[in-house]
Amino acid sequence: MRGTFIRVYLECMRPECACHTDKKRRHGPYYRISYGQGRRVHHIYVPLAWKEKAREWTENYRRVWKGIEKVSALNIRLMKGKR
Ligand SMILES: [Zn+2]
Repeated sequence: MRGTFIRVYLECMRPECACHTDKKRRHGPYYRISYGQGRRVHHIYVPLAWKEKAREWTENYRRVWKGIEKVSALNIRLMKGKR
C-alpha cells in the first residue's frame, strides 16, 4: 500500500478536557496512512484492529520500490559498461 503510516494524538470535542491545554494529555495514539494523490495529500483513518496490517502493507510498498530502484541502478551500471 502506497502511503506513510503515522501515529497521531488528538484533541477531543469536550471543551473542558485537559487535552486542549496540555499536549501530553491529547488522546491516542490513533493511526493514519497519509498518501499523495495528484497535488493533494490524503489521510485514511486506520482502525485499531488494522494497525499491524497498515504498517505491514505500507512497509511492503516501500520494500518493493527499494528493490525496483536497486535493479534499475544495476541495469544502468550494466548498460554503461556496454560501450
Ligand atoms: Zn480531550
